[in-house]
Amino acid sequence: MADRDGFIWYDGELKPWRECTTHVLTYSLHYGVGCFEGVRAYKTPKGTAIFRLQEHTRRLFNSAKILGMKMPWSEDVLNEAQLEVLRANKLDSAYLRPMVFYGAEGMGLRADNLKTHVIVAAWTWGAYLGAENMERGIRVKTSSFNRHHPNAATLRAKANGNYINSMMALNEVLRDGYDEALTLDTQGYIAEGSAENIFLVIRGELHTPDLTACLDGITRRTIIQLAEDNGLKVVERRITRDEVYVADEAFFTGTAAEVTPIREVDNRPIGIGSRGPITEKLQKQYLALVKGESSAYPQWLSHV
Ligand code: PMP
Repeated sequence: MADRDGFIWYDGELKPWRECTTHVLTYSLHYGVGCFEGVRAYKTPKGTAIFRLQEHTRRLFNSAKILGMKMPWSEDVLNEAQLEVLRANKLDSAYLRPMVFYGAEGMGLRADNLKTHVIVAAWTWGAYLGAENMERGIRVKTSSFNRHHPNAATLRAKANGNYINSMMALNEVLRDGYDEALTLDTQGYIAEGSAENIFLVIRGELHTPDLTACLDGITRRTIIQLAEDNGLKVVERRITRDEVYVADEAFFTGTAAEVTPIREVDNRPIGIGSRGPITEKLQKQYLALVKGESSAYPQWLSHV
């Protein structure tokens, strides 16, 4: 990732990609304290636009607040920085990565005298879980690693260190030949994927875990809105692992994963064993929305 042309917004200015380095004594590298966002921009009929930019930036600021990190910039500046990075790199569709971290100003856990640094990078990134899987669906396995207890790590924050758990869960199941992990919370109820929220279709209703043990996903919010617009009942509650096995349909949501159907969980086919009809409908509506092909919610698109 480090050796390429382009520009990264680094502490208020656009810097050449290869010059955006940090010292080995960078605090966040040692302790995982930091927060980030995953944002997508799409090519729309009216030019490139970032989907729900303000909400991603708000979540980034909330993450920093939860971690006690003082943000040196306003939300407006960070919104503009993301648009600027797309322009500078001439990207018409992209994945954007804003990230907030402490520098190498000190090392003690007291975290005093540290400076908060902010970067925004962007690059082209296709379907996160494979283009063919957007129709066929993916094979998922429940991970032996539990999602964090809400009082051991802060799940409302999209915190860098939280992703040790995601990475362990994902790599465990990838090694066994599956596409993605399903994590359970510390009480055994389903939580989320390694970087996605999960939805089930049960007798024509949409069910998803409540937010105690998963990220407050922006794609999750979008899908809940679209489902309600379609007259679908949405239920946020605790869900057991075996309910997933007998669901009519299941899918993951995330900025990177978009709406990815799940065709199998723990070697049991889900529903028809490929993308179900409600999943297909919501997936198509979601993609039309982000690509500016739908007239609904124009306020969710920030044009470059
Ligand atoms: N859960 C986790 C752990 C994630 O990393 C992500 C990706 N940001 C999501 C859920 C989905 O969130 P969003 O829809 O905001 O991308």
